[in-house]
This record gives sequence, C-alpha cells and structure tokens, in this order.
Amino acid sequence: MFIRRLPKFEYHAPASLPEALDLLALYGADAKLLAGGTDLLLAMKKRTKTPAHVINLKSIPGLSGISGDAKGLKIGALTTMADIMRSALVKETYTPLWDAVSVMGSPQVRTLATLGGNLVSAVPSADTAPPLIVLSAQAHLTGPSGERTCPVEALFSAPSTCSLAPTDILTHITIPFPQGKGAYLKLMRRAALDLALVGVAAYFCLDANKVCTHAKIALGAVAPTPIRATASEAIIEGKVLNAALAAEAGSASGKECFPITDLRSSLEYRCSMVEVLTERALLEALKRSN
Ligand SMILES: Cc1cc2nc3c(=O)[nH]c(=O)nc-3n(C[C@H](O)[C@H](O)[C@H](O)COP(=O)(O)OP(=O)(O)OC[C@H]3O[C@@H](n4cnc5c(N)ncnc54)[C@H](O)[C@@H]3O)c2cc1C
Repeated sequence: MFIRRLPKFEYHAPASLPEALDLLALYGADAKLLAGGTDLLLAMKKRTKTPAHVINLKSIPGLSGISGDAKGLKIGALTTMADIMRSALVKETYTPLWDAVSVMGSPQVRTLATLGGNLVSAVPSADTAPPLIVLSAQAHLTGPSGERTCPVEALFSAPSTCSLAPTDILTHITIPFPQGKGAYLKLMRRAALDLALVGVAAYFCLDANKVCTHAKIALGAVAPTPIRATASEAIIEGKVLNAALAAEAGSASGKECFPITDLRSSLEYRCSMVEVLTERALLEALKRSN
C-alpha cells in the first residue's frame, strides 16, 4: 500500500558541514541526509525508510555549483540536474554526463534532484553513474575521520546500497579534463520520465593515427551495480574504430552483463539492448571525435 503522509521525524537544517557531521555523529543510523528529496521523501512515504531525524544539506554553503579549468571539472554534490543541464561547459566537454542528465526524469524532477543524491541512492539504473565512471570521476567524501576520495565506480556496493558510511557526506565530484570524446545512451519504455532499462556510456581518446586509447565502457541497469564492460573495452583499445569493430564490442558487452527479468523488461531483452546501445554509443563517440 502507498501511504502518502510522511512519517513523523525531527528536522534539522545545519548551516555548515561540521554542524551536519556533528548531527550525523549524534543520531547515527537514526538520521538521513536530505538533498532534493526525490528519492528519500518517496521512500519515507512508502515507509521503506523511516529516519527519526532528517538533516537537510541545502542550507550548507559550498555544496553546489559547477567550476572548471584546464585540469578538470568540480561539481558540488548538491548541484541539481537542471543546473548541470544548463552548463555549456558540461555539454561541450563532459558530454556523456550532459547526455545522461538531459534524459533524466522530467523538468520538475531535474529541478530538485541532485547529483549527490543520484549517486548515493545507488540504484542500478542511476543515469549519472555510467558517464561519471567512463569519465574517471572521483567522489569526495567527508566524515568523522576527515576527507577522502574514491573513484565513483567504488561508490556502489549492491542495489540501492552505497559504500558511504552513514556518517559520511558526499561533498563533490571531480572529473579530469577529458582528452577524448564519449556518449551516453539510455533505453526507456517511453520517450521521457522513465528509468533506464539499459544505460550505456562509452569513452575513448584517438591518437594521431586515429587509434583508440583509454577506452572505457560502463553499463547501467543490467547488473546489481553499474559495471565496466572490460572485454568490450579491450576489443577497441589499440585499434582504429569502425562499424564492424563497434558491432564486435557491442556483442561482447551483451555477455558481460547479468541483468534480471522484472516487470519492466526481460533479462534476454536487456542483454540484446546492451549490445545495440554499446555499438551505437561507440559510433556516436566516434562521430563526436571527428
Ligand atoms: C518521477 C521521478 C523520475 C525519476 N527519474 C529518474 C531517471 O530518469 N534517472 C535517474 O537516475 N533517477 C531518476 N529518479 C530518481 C531521483 O530523482 C534521483 O536519484 C535523484 O538524483 C536523487 O537526488 P535527490 O537530491 O533527490 O536525493 P534525495 O532523495 O534527497 O537523497 C537520496 C539519498 O541520498 C542521500 N544523500 C543525498 N545527498 C547526499 C550527500 N551529499 N551525501 C550523502 N548522502 C546523500 C540521502 O540521504 C538519501 O539516502 C526519478 C525520481 C522520480 C521521483
């Protein structure tokens, strides 16, 4: 049964990161951080999460915003999908992430939903995960023992389970300046406002002889967590990419995933679509490289 009323909880609006960390240390597993609320508040209405304390991160300065230089990009965890979509820098240079954000939810959802919330929710279909993985993004966390960094890939440990400790806060994401091009493609049952049945991000650099280097392919919604398609990457690495090679890499990616059959799609369909989307994402990245 879907219960629409929120359960009772105590609301906190810390004005600084240390204050938020103190609240997390005090209330531990009884507390949940709130960003855009598009995942958390639904889970609370459904009673799948019933925190006694909700700690809103939105009043904390410095947790949102996009800045870039010759070394790369920094995106605050509280940056909304709408802000990322509006960024010309993301669109031009970090294009797979822009591809993902632009097909996420609806304008209303994108106005609230944050990058940090999308990653910490850790659903296998999280649209921002595959592009951030192929762009070699790093997650910056702060907790009781200080700050640490980990690859975005390492944030996911199981469906809807993030590797963050309950006392950690994701503060921002950094992405090294990409030397190559990439693309993210998403298969949905309808044109908008749907989770990915399959999401594929591909990225590579081309050397002076048009040979692919630094190839990365990541798959979403086809395993308990977002995964790399390393066998497919190996197929294109060190070679000149063409339609036949993209099809070969696509075929391999269908064997690297292990999706489930659920209400939205069968396992077999998802595997076939991984093949198609991998091939198309590679060819789209090639088009953008030329
Ligand atoms: C109608 C609808 C459509 C959607 N469509 C899509 C879609 O197409 N693709 C997609 O990927 N998702 C989709 N979503 C899911 C959701 O919008 C995203 O996952 C969103 O990015 C979550 O961000 P949020 O800011 O709302 O997180 P919240 O709901 O505020 O938080 C989510 C979780 O992350 C934790 N958290 C948030 N920020 C931090 C932080 N900085 N540090 C540590 N923990 C944190 C919270 O405690 C909570 O557990 C959709 C949701 C709805 C309601």
